[in-house]
Amino acid sequence: MHELPIVKGIFDLCVKHATANNAKKVISVTLKVGELSDLQDQWIQRYFDYLSKGTFVEGAKLVIERVPLVMRCKLCSESFHVNVQERRQIECPLCRGTKLAYVSGREYRVEKMEIV
Ligand SMILES: [Zn+2]
Repeated sequence: MHELPIVKGIFDLCVKHATANNAKKVISVTLKVGELSDLQDQWIQRYFDYLSKGTFVEGAKLVIERVPLVMRCKLCSESFHVNVQERRQIECPLCRGTKLAYVSGREYRVEKMEIV
């Protein structure tokens, strides 16, 4: 379960942010999750529920927005979207280069929080 530390990180961030804002309760948390993550929404919510049980974050609803996987060619600097299902052999659509860098698609980020 390598996903648990990731969700724990998100949870800790929520607690820190909510505490800093004197929140009594966390209503919802909007997350940006990269397409490259194979962690399904329901599992993120399940881990989060498990971690938040008995805390003031308990019951918070997670809104998960997927961030497309975008890569950039190191040769010609072209950025392009990659279909996660077909990413076995990725090459630059412009110059066919295979030296690529991640632009987005790997992140787990707290976008916003609704607190009371
Ligand atoms: Zn290229």
